Amino acid sequence: MNNMSIFNVTKSKLKRLEKRPRVTQDVSTLGSFFKTKKPRIETPHFFSGKSACSPTWYGDTTPEIDEKTGGFTGKLVVSYNDPVLKDPCVRECVEVHEKSHVEDLQPLVKKIHDCDVAAGDDWDKKGKCSEMSNKELPFMVNKSECKAYRKSYSCLTLKLLDSNSPCSKSPHKEKINEHRQSEACELKERCTAAGTPHEGIPVS
Ligand SMILES: [Zn+2]
Repeated sequence: MNNMSIFNVTKSKLKRLEKRPRVTQDVSTLGSFFKTKKPRIETPHFFSGKSACSPTWYGDTTPEIDEKTGGFTGKLVVSYNDPVLKDPCVRECVEVHEKSHVEDLQPLVKKIHDCDVAAGDDWDKKGKCSEMSNKELPFMVNKSECKAYRKSYSCLTLKLLDSNSPCSKSPHKEKINEHRQSEACELKERCTAAGTPHEGIPVS
């Protein structure tokens, strides 16, 4: 019998595993549903959440979903919340953050995609891909966030410290400081959740 929800890394499951999207949304949204007969596209994004750390999301890194199969294509889609990401100095650091996620997640989404392709129509084999996904993706979320926030937080701080950069002057300075506050909050939460609380202490 075909298992209709072969990939049960559901959004709700991942939502429970990590708290909420804040400065970035990224892998918290992973919903992978491999369907062969009736493709069902689950939108991988849910941008609605506010959090204790940040009122909105700024960047997002999500596995690309194949519209035909509903599975991962093996690629990632990076997007930015342009209406709220107007300051170019802040944006550069959000880009640094997302790039870090891409580096972390690229090998894994490709592995899951390759596994699914190799499984073909064999649902038992697809189940193994599902197991791999269920095990490895949630495990990566906080770890990848901790790493990405360390990079973006440092990026913001360095911009403030560079007196030759317009980013260290008004109005960018104020925007950067706003983001540093929410990022410091994220950094602490995510690194603690990842089991490495010492990495969540800003160095500057
Ligand atoms: Zn992130």
